Amino acid sequence: MHITLLGTGNAFVTECYNTCFTLHFNNKNDIFLVDAGGGNTILSQLKKANINYTDIKNIFVTHKHIDHILGVIWMIRAIGKSMQHGTYTSDCNIYSHAEVIDILRRMSKELLNKKEIEFLDNRIHLITITDGESKIINNQKVTFFDIHSTKATQYGFSIQLENGKKLTCCGDEPFNDHEISYVRGADWLLHEAFCLFSQIHIFKPYDKHHSTVKDACEVATRFNIKNLILYHTEDKNIANRKELYTKEGKKYFTDNLYIPDDLEVIELN
Ligand SMILES: [Zn+2]
Repeated sequence: MHITLLGTGNAFVTECYNTCFTLHFNNKNDIFLVDAGGGNTILSQLKKANINYTDIKNIFVTHKHIDHILGVIWMIRAIGKSMQHGTYTSDCNIYSHAEVIDILRRMSKELLNKKEIEFLDNRIHLITITDGESKIINNQKVTFFDIHSTKATQYGFSIQLENGKKLTCCGDEPFNDHEISYVRGADWLLHEAFCLFSQIHIFKPYDKHHSTVKDACEVATRFNIKNLILYHTEDKNIANRKELYTKEGKKYFTDNLYIPDDLEVIELN
């Protein structure tokens, strides 16, 4: 069981890809993709990670911002083409809340050609999920929840993993109290960290409703999280990001802190 971070950056990065990742469970040919970044680069990131997109059977989209949703249009195109050619033999499920599902359906119909969307709503299923709803994805129970974003409706999710561990993703906004029941007791927490607290004067994360490494680490400490993965960061510090962020984070969180680079794989033990 592992996670592959395909991208780790915020919306405007140029030195890495926008935040998106795959979760790999027991069935190697049933990969779960969460968001797809801002475009066609999703396909090259998957290739670099040695992930065949025909193995991605479930996709979840957190919200409509273009650094998360546009890559999904490319996934629909790629999967639609593979279905035509007979190289994608199962169905594909794409989950999100109603607003995103509506946008995905309209964009696919407006932007893709007839053949590419031949299987839309037939074998490519756009599935609307509601706050607190659970689905079984590759034998894992995944519960989706509204993070109560102030910008655009956004959902996170929590997974009860087969090994008994719980993994929770808070999307790309700071933790808020609506998420307590999902974050409490999590063994793995995925949380955004726009920049270092020591650099808020440069990056102004609070103006953008984002948090810092310090803030995210304090949340993890508050809930006794064992493993914290930070993503959706600025990219000006990319060369030393792991070292700088780890140094600041360790002051506020003493368990396992991960500052992954793009394409990094983390075992979810
Ligand atoms: Zn974002």
